[in-house]
Amino acid sequence: MSWKYIMIHCTATPEGKDYTVKEIDRWHREKGFNGIGYHYVIHLNGCIEEGRPITRAGAHCYGWNSSAIGIAYIGGTDADGTPKDTRTEAQKKAIRQLVERFKELIPIKRVLGHNEVSNKACPCFDVGKEFA
Ligand SMILES: [Zn+2]
Repeated sequence: MSWKYIMIHCTATPEGKDYTVKEIDRWHREKGFNGIGYHYVIHLNGCIEEGRPITRAGAHCYGWNSSAIGIAYIGGTDADGTPKDTRTEAQKKAIRQLVERFKELIPIKRVLGHNEVSNKACPCFDVGKEFA
């Protein structure tokens, strides 16, 4: 793998509800992926959990899976399923820490939001604005 980008996602799950990597792994298997598609998952309390090993291509965005590390925060919709930036302060901090850590390790060209390369709302905030 030759990682050049980081792509930020949300799990498109309702605000305030946390989910385990195991649950997300099951959802993605049900979609036909070979396991969880994201490399990292950010829990509501800011805890960073490993999903798919970084040594494997992701399954989070068609066309970007072998160049972009996939990070997803848990949340992204309100209770009715409408897209919403539901990040907790702890999640915002954790995303930033993870991005900074990778930027020190590898030359990252750009940090992208899923919505910059697809017509999805994910991750429901302006990534380009926060990660110039
Ligand atoms: Zn996404």
